[in-house]
Amino acid sequence: SSTNSPAEACHSVKVLVKVRPVLDSDTNKSTCVAYDELGIQVSTFLNKEKGKPITEIKKFEFDRIFGSESSIDDLFFDIAPSINMVASGGRACILAYGQTGSGKTYTMNEVLSKSVEALKVAIVGEYQVYLNCIEIYNEQVRNLLSNDALSKNWKETVEMAEIKLENDWFSQCLTLIQQAALKRSTKFTESNSSSSRSHCIYTLKIVKGSHTGIIQFVDLAGSERISKSKVSGDILKETLLINKSLSALQDVIAALETKQNHIPYRNSMLTRILQQTLGGEESMVTVILNCNPCEESSGETVCTLALGTRLK
Ligand code: ADP
Ligand code: MG
Repeated sequence: SSTNSPAEACHSVKVLVKVRPVLDSDTNKSTCVAYDELGIQVSTFLNKEKGKPITEIKKFEFDRIFGSESSIDDLFFDIAPSINMVASGGRACILAYGQTGSGKTYTMNEVLSKSVEALKVAIVGEYQVYLNCIEIYNEQVRNLLSNDALSKNWKETVEMAEIKLENDWFSQCLTLIQQAALKRSTKFTESNSSSSRSHCIYTLKIVKGSHTGIIQFVDLAGSERISKSKVSGDILKETLLINKSLSALQDVIAALETKQNHIPYRNSMLTRILQQTLGGEESMVTVILNCNPCEESSGETVCTLALGTRLK
């Protein structure tokens, strides 16, 4: 935005794509994606019983596409402005979105260690760092850094989860993040034997003088559509709550981008907790769309990219 009115002050959403490499464990190695720096296309084979197979091609454009051969340094080039923003007292949110197995956790772990390293370099002088690692599962907040019983009050849980790091905070921070990652809950689903069905949020707060910079790193629950006829009970409940929170997130980002007066943060626990970094005048939001390149994932990949297009 080029205007200077406070309501229009730089709220920006950057949408990046990261295609993970084909893995040895992928059963079918054929891929469905082709891309360059700014565009990506997905081919879906529509096998007709009679006649020739038909290929449907869908094309999308984003701020940048990172292919399977790209490194974290390439991706980090687009994250670095957020780090500088936070180092000078601003706010940033970095989210990984995609189906289970698309590389969200892998990418977020790389982004986290790079970001912590970059923050350490970017901030000078006296400051204090606070870390908070939580998980949202079935709309309940769990502290990933302690075994304490759940508090009924989510704000209390979030406050209690905050740890003040030592002066030499760098390695302590990375160790705690690793511990938190190990604690995340996993459950069996149709699509993956250890699918992450929770949203995981790492919040780093940098307090320096009168400024507080905040950055949130979000490893979202798998976005895959699960047929309601195939699941029941706990898994159905889980699925419905994940869908509800992911659409609440889209609604909040859409409301921020169209500069609505009312931003619907209260529609899910995810958006309530991300309110501190998604909104506001000086906030940078980056959505990383993680894609599985394999042919059998083409349907989900199209859904992920279509969602990303709506966020731009
Ligand atoms: P998700 O969190 O979306 O379910 P993961 O991050 O667990 O997906 O990734 C799925 C698999 O792909 C894991 O075995 C992971 O190690 C591998 N993987 C993901 N991204 C990469 C990458 N950029 N390079 C190499 N392996 C990757
Ligand atoms: Mg994961």
